[in-house]
Amino acid sequence: MNPSLPENWFKNRIAHIEERVQNACARRGRSPAEVTIIAVTKYVSNEIAADLVHAGMMELGESRPQELWRKAEDLPDFIHWHLVGHLQTNKIERTLPLVSWIHSVDSLRLLQALEKEAVKQNRLVNILLEVNASGEVQKHGFQVQEMDQVIATLAHLHQVRVGGLMTMAALEGDSESCRKTFAQLRQLRDRLQENVKPPHHLVHLSMGMTGDFEIAIEEGATMIRIGSLFFEGLENFQ
Ligand SMILES: *Cc1c(COP(=O)(O)O)cnc(C)c1O
Repeated sequence: MNPSLPENWFKNRIAHIEERVQNACARRGRSPAEVTIIAVTKYVSNEIAADLVHAGMMELGESRPQELWRKAEDLPDFIHWHLVGHLQTNKIERTLPLVSWIHSVDSLRLLQALEKEAVKQNRLVNILLEVNASGEVQKHGFQVQEMDQVIATLAHLHQVRVGGLMTMAALEGDSESCRKTFAQLRQLRDRLQENVKPPHHLVHLSMGMTGDFEIAIEEGATMIRIGSLFFEGLENFQ
């Protein structure tokens, strides 16, 4: 434990987030069990991330592969790691053995490179396809219009398993534009799913961060990626 941190700091923060998740689920008649909360630890040290694990979080996310490697090496093996940021092909080999999910697969080239390495390592790799549903120019992710074509290539993937879609709302967007982006991702998933065959299944929607996770849940998120809300205020104890 970080000695200066109040004992129940993270337990309270987890309870606060879980309560907001439950309330958002209740508004749509959803079960909170359908929503996985991923704690994005990119803002904090290994030590603080370990405190969060100690308080009960087992699903952790990082946006940079090297940072994920650094934390995974130091933290307990039972953690499920989620890569939520861009993956360069030269970082695939070291990343695959560590992750439960890669949320941010954003090109056909990356999909092919992942399949090749998954075969080489004899692993199954769970991934989500990142979609630029908000249409923001500078964003990673497939364009909505290219998704039919992407789905048509999935039959060639055997060790890489596509489990759903991921998106980020526009940085400058208000809550209505967030909602629109998230609803669009859900509709896209529902439509594309008809052309997806096992072992691929478009089940998951990874969407929603600190500022918009309740809207994302109302629009069908099954994975939310929360960073700041776990850690804001911590600086007062360091
Ligand atoms: C940082 C990050 C998050 C968490 O963002 P917060 O607004 O701090 O909750 C979620 N998803 C991705 C892809 C990120 O890079």
